Amino acid sequence: MPGYVLIIDALSNRRIHLRAQLDTAAYPVEMAETQTEGLARIRKEAPDVVIIADDLPGLRLRQFCKLLRSNPQTQLITVVVAVQKENQSARISALSAGAYDVIDYTAETIDLKARLRSFMRNKHCSEDAKMRASPEKVQGLAEAIPDFAPNIVATFVSCSANVPIDETRRRFDSSTGIDARCLAADAARRNPEPETDVYVLIESRSGDETRETLGALLTHPVSRHSRILFVTDSNGHGTSPLDLGAHDQVSSDVTATELAIRIQRLARGKRTADNERKTTTELAQKAYVDALTGLNNRNAMEEYLIRTDRALAEQPRKVAIMIADVDCFKEINDNHGHAAGDLILAHIAQTLKSRLRAGDFIARYGGEEFLIVLPDVAAGQAKCVAQRLRNAVANTPKAIENGTHVRATISIGIAAAGRSDRQSTTDLRRAADTALYVAKRNGRNRIEFAYRETTIGTPAPKISAAQ
Ligand code: GH3
Ligand code: MG
Ligand code: MG
Repeated sequence: MPGYVLIIDALSNRRIHLRAQLDTAAYPVEMAETQTEGLARIRKEAPDVVIIADDLPGLRLRQFCKLLRSNPQTQLITVVVAVQKENQSARISALSAGAYDVIDYTAETIDLKARLRSFMRNKHCSEDAKMRASPEKVQGLAEAIPDFAPNIVATFVSCSANVPIDETRRRFDSSTGIDARCLAADAARRNPEPETDVYVLIESRSGDETRETLGALLTHPVSRHSRILFVTDSNGHGTSPLDLGAHDQVSSDVTATELAIRIQRLARGKRTADNERKTTTELAQKAYVDALTGLNNRNAMEEYLIRTDRALAEQPRKVAIMIADVDCFKEINDNHGHAAGDLILAHIAQTLKSRLRAGDFIARYGGEEFLIVLPDVAAGQAKCVAQRLRNAVANTPKAIENGTHVRATISIGIAAAGRSDRQSTTDLRRAADTALYVAKRNGRNRIEFAYRETTIGTPAPKISAAQ
């Protein structure tokens, strides 16, 4: 269901003027005359955006914003304050009190609608973030930057010398926590700065180069997660920078204080999103990657084998499965210590992985055991691969902390299925495990082969020495 915009203003002419400005926007507009009436309307059905007049009788904006944020039903509502155009201190106190943005009562229709679309986008992003994160991490809220966070880096990009904004930049003091830098537009397009939280993109007279720079920054791998604050005085001409992807927009006569507040808010949003991405990546890593060796873990292996079985059932193919186990690893631990054992295990894992092809699969199967799957590989070729792996491990000793070079060896059990065998990976795994057991029994540092089982359910595979 589409949301709606709620205008709360005691003066009917301003309410009606604002409503008329938004009339052709895709969102329905509701109106309230007082804070109490507005809150009752919000309780009944939460709007996407509330536009509230800063001179509303009895309004204490900080409390109003806090009230909405404290309720899960209303915490993502974007609060926008309408102020008199020239009232700089009202703008700043509204932003400081927790408003998401300020608009002029006399804002031009085109600018207002573009801002409205940007608020809606922000709200939807925040809703998505809420699905993934805890409520206090939701973007767009006026939460404080945690202590010891590095300075915010704001890079001012101008396409031609722009004295007023440069003056504004110079007026940032250390209390803002903003490290304000400068970059020429062509340099920003080619080589954006990796540390930048917020780009302040200052429109040149023609505008074209700035818009091109906006597009470049939004898509460059280094800058695509940064926020962009677009500085323009040509409101209402051409497509709005907000619709082109800028995250915020101000005119060049913005005060240093307001600019700093906007940069801080954008940087908070960016850092929240960065953390969220990092957490998601780390969780995915933990779920599928073995921490010691960096190989796929058992989870990843089980999922891979299920997918492989499904693919083989659909389209039979050759496949070989090997299980490699480090020989007498307990002795290595006993002789050199567990920490050295860990180091050697990680080294063996990398030795094995680096000898496999891109389409092969390797996972840490157990403590010192590895499972390897070679798709489209027949028995003979699998034997060559196994020999290559066994030799590689035996011939690359690992230096441990005390300078000793520890030489480890592995034994490998192999099972391979041809196109017509229709064996599951479970059958092949079991057969490879039995072959490995034979390799151990026959003296270790060797390869044993499980002859292919031609029908499922035949007794234990026959074993032949491959070396
Ligand atoms: P075999 O040749 O028969 O395989 O002998 P083994 O000593 O390798 O086999 P065993 O199963 O007796 O011992 C395996 C050892 O591997 C015991 C266990 O503590 C050690 N191990 C398993 N996981 C790790 C690990 O993550 N780090 C270290 N350092 N040791 C591990
Ligand atoms: Mg072992
Ligand atoms: Mg073992």
